[in-house]
Amino acid sequence: MVERNIKGRGIDDKAVLAAMRSVERHKFVPPEFADQAYADHPLPIGYDQTISQPYIVAYMTQVIRPNPQMKVLEIGTGSGYQAAVLAEIVKQVYTIEIVAEHGKAAAERLKKLGYDNVQVKVGDGYLGWEEHAPYDAIVVTAGAATVPPPLLEQLKEGGRMVIPVGPPHKTQTLMLLEKKKGKTVSKKLIPVVFVPFTGKGQE
Ligand code: SAH
Repeated sequence: MVERNIKGRGIDDKAVLAAMRSVERHKFVPPEFADQAYADHPLPIGYDQTISQPYIVAYMTQVIRPNPQMKVLEIGTGSGYQAAVLAEIVKQVYTIEIVAEHGKAAAERLKKLGYDNVQVKVGDGYLGWEEHAPYDAIVVTAGAATVPPPLLEQLKEGGRMVIPVGPPHKTQTLMLLEKKKGKTVSKKLIPVVFVPFTGKGQE
C-alpha cells in the first residue's frame, strides 16, 4: 500500500512514510472490511462515517510538516486511524469526535494499541479544545462549510491547519491555512470528499 499508493503519489516525508508503514490499518476497520484495509479507498465504520483513504491521511499528515515536538489537534476522530498516524510522529495528539460511540471505541482502540500520547474527547469540534491550546497544527477530517473561527484562534502563530472546505456531500477543497504574523494565509490544495462536519459547523 505504502509503496504504490502513498510513495508513488508524491508523499516523500520519511516520518510520514514510516508512520503509514507502522500503523496497522486493519485494526481500525470493522472486521468485515479487514481484507480491504490496505486498499487505497475509504471504508465505512458505522453511523454513516468512514475511515479516510490512506493516501489522503498521508497527504494531510505531510502537509502540516509534522515533527516530534508538535502538539496537534484533530477534529473528527472516527476510527482513530489518522490520530494514530499523527501520534507515531508528533509529541501529543488531542482529538475530538462528535459521535459518542466512535469517540469511546477509538479511545479504547488507541489505548489498547499503546498510543498513550493521544487524548480523545467526545464533543463538538467546532469549538476546538481550548484547554490545551494553542496547537502547532490542526487537522480537520470532516468537510466544513467554512473554517470554524475557534479553531483559527487556537492555532499557534506559525501554525498550520488543514481542512476540507465546501458543501456537504459534494466535493470539497482541501485548504491549508497558515497563521503568519497574526494574519491567515490560505492555499487551495486538492479536491477531496469527506463526510460532513456536523454540530455547530453545520448551522
Ligand atoms: N479521522 C477519521 C475519519 C474521519 S470521518 C479516521 O481516521 O478514521 C469524520 C469524522 O468526523 C466522523 O467520525 C464524524 O462523526 C466526525 N465529525 C463530524 N462533525 C464533527 C464535529 N463537529 N466535531 C467532531 N467530530 C465531528
